[in-house]
Amino acid sequence: MSTDFAQQLLSWFDDHGRHNLPWQNNRNAYRVWVSEIMLQQTQVATVIPYFERFMARFPQLSDLAAAPVDDVLALWTGLGYYSRARNLHKCAQVVTEQYQGDFPVDTQTLAQLPGIGPSTAAAIVSQAYNKPAAILDGNVKRVLTRIYAIEGWPGQKVIEQQLWDLAKQLTPQQRNADYTQAIMDLGATICRRNKPLCVACPMQNNCQALAQEKVSALPTRKPKKDLPEKQVWTLLLTDHQQNVQLYQRPHKGIWGGLWSLPEFASLEDMENHLALLGTTNSQPLPEVKHAFSHYKLTLHPYRVCLPANHGFIQESTRLKWYASQQIDTIGLPSPIKQILQQYWA
Ligand code: SF4
Repeated sequence: MSTDFAQQLLSWFDDHGRHNLPWQNNRNAYRVWVSEIMLQQTQVATVIPYFERFMARFPQLSDLAAAPVDDVLALWTGLGYYSRARNLHKCAQVVTEQYQGDFPVDTQTLAQLPGIGPSTAAAIVSQAYNKPAAILDGNVKRVLTRIYAIEGWPGQKVIEQQLWDLAKQLTPQQRNADYTQAIMDLGATICRRNKPLCVACPMQNNCQALAQEKVSALPTRKPKKDLPEKQVWTLLLTDHQQNVQLYQRPHKGIWGGLWSLPEFASLEDMENHLALLGTTNSQPLPEVKHAFSHYKLTLHPYRVCLPANHGFIQESTRLKWYASQQIDTIGLPSPIKQILQQYWA
């Protein structure tokens, strides 16, 4: 079925695929790589404006490699999964220093670079260089588990290996840039997670999940476990000129390198901190909930406005005062940005 599969998919793609995505214009390894990293866990419609702003600020790999990581994080604000942005920056520096600014052309070397796994490496090789390389992102996993009625959670090693083997068998020798885009488009626009459009699908006559009425059951869901919950108390501290105090989180861990509100493990810890600052006049704001892949977070923000006669609180490298017009120049986690927009700026 491999040649038929590719032919059917490509002829569907010629008529119905996406041909005008920003990274398909002036296509090169740098633009494909940035788009692929942004598209991990994120939909095309969300990515497009981020990609365009990113390319306007960093038109070449060398621009990205030379920029401070804070500028990269600032442009990433709202896209989530910030380790992607830090790895993107690190990878740009590695390619500049070790590969004279040119991405390697083979998947194995590419997959050793920061933030690039085997599927992203294959997407770069096939899309930027039009060479055969099998991808296996979330869309492709969904398409293949359905067409071949493969049961078992695709995150399991044995299932993942089965899918890789299939993806490699099905990859054609020609039109590789189009084939990669086609299989991603099929997953994103037709074989969608919810309400797939089987009646419009070019694979409907070969789809075993459709024949066996298993479409909604595949891919098999990840076994559920209850996520732990974490609570933190955050301080929206402003001075009499309406500057806000922010601290930069460590580069490793959740929201690494982003600027955040000072945070405490308990209300008591926060009140002790306020007492040290010589103020106790805090006002609770509505709580904000945020879900990470491995735990749920509840933020309890409190607002404190320091009076004009309050002494200046020293800054340090990681603790600074920001005016509202500076806020778009730094990376902020989305929930923190939301609190600032609602209750400060
Ligand atoms: S027929 Fe339906 S389930 Fe099968 S590949 Fe097409 S859209 Fe997916």
